[in-house]
Amino acid sequence: IRILAFESSCDETSTSVVKNGREVESLIVATQIKSHQRFGGVVPEVASRHHIEVITQITNEALKEAHIAWKDIDAIAVTYGPGLVGALLIGVSAAKAASMATGIPLIGVDHIMGHIMAAQLKEEISYPALALQVSGGHTEIVLLKDSTHFEIVGDTRDDAAGEAYDKIGRVLGVNYPAGKTIDEWAQKGKDTFDFPRAMIKEDDYDFSFSGLKSAFINTYHHAEQIHQDLNKYDLAASFQAAVIDVLATKTIRAIKQYQPQTFIMGGGVAANHGLRERMNHEIANLPRNLQPKVILPELKLCGDNAAMIGAAAYNLYQEGKFADLTLDADPSLELPYASEMLQ
Ligand code: ATP
Ligand code: MG
Ligand code: FE
Repeated sequence: IRILAFESSCDETSTSVVKNGREVESLIVATQIKSHQRFGGVVPEVASRHHIEVITQITNEALKEAHIAWKDIDAIAVTYGPGLVGALLIGVSAAKAASMATGIPLIGVDHIMGHIMAAQLKEEISYPALALQVSGGHTEIVLLKDSTHFEIVGDTRDDAAGEAYDKIGRVLGVNYPAGKTIDEWAQKGKDTFDFPRAMIKEDDYDFSFSGLKSAFINTYHHAEQIHQDLNKYDLAASFQAAVIDVLATKTIRAIKQYQPQTFIMGGGVAANHGLRERMNHEIANLPRNLQPKVILPELKLCGDNAAMIGAAAYNLYQEGKFADLTLDADPSLELPYASEMLQ
């Protein structure tokens, strides 16, 4: 089964051909980061315009790179949410037009399900699985009952982890998106600032990062006022240590409760070196019978890309979950919440 996938939820336009949900035959990612950097964040109108400009060309490129033609495609998949509505609409319209013109069936994919399924492109997932989804707009612990039934067991009450990285990065004068640079700085510094670890002791799987962000910004501005120079590497290391402490502590607690076969990380922040190292280490230290298999996606598949959408779409294809031409962008699409199973 060959799937042609589209992703255009934010500031990356991407197309990919994925075979059997596991093999990336081609992947094109047209990033717009340069166009948004001078605004310090993604400007929706600018994003939509860039998506329109490149989508036809990169569709042809994805087919060409995979050495295939339209007749070789079994399904067309597209991210229909969550994301920027105008950006999503470009991918959804392109996928619908292609499906209508060729008669190839259409599959709508949740962007977050896609991020989590980037792991499937590396290794086969055994279920139940537990995922830590950490990206620019989401910080969630997700329980995967099987390859298409996902439930949120915890999420952030305010900022997402990636968002916190980008906001403190801005204070430090780092270009958007700041996560990668802060991660690099953190590796050169020490945790000397003792920033807060919000909700770490709470008996649930929720997160909060806005207090940490404020503590960071206050520390920075206070030092500025008294003309004190703070070591940026230590600031980054202290911030990152606080983020990782909370993410790791709560995720390990969830692993103990749900006892998944597989542990997955997904989203841009899943590329974080400190977080990857810490999760590997903590899981290796669990009792043998509680140790899930760990699948951390390839670094380049952590951020937004269409290959992960092709992977998730394959699972939906197997279940016969197709969309029709009424498929619409849903900017606030959410995975369902696991309700009473928490206690
Ligand atoms: P969402 O997927 O929640 O809708 P998004 O698509 O904007 O949001 P992604 O593209 O998955 O998010 O991830 C981008 C985020 O990942 C940015 O906030 C970026 O700073 C962060 N990020 C990227 N690399 C790293 C890293 N090494 N360490 C920490 N954060 C990182
Ligand atoms: Mg992005
Ligand atoms: Fe994303």
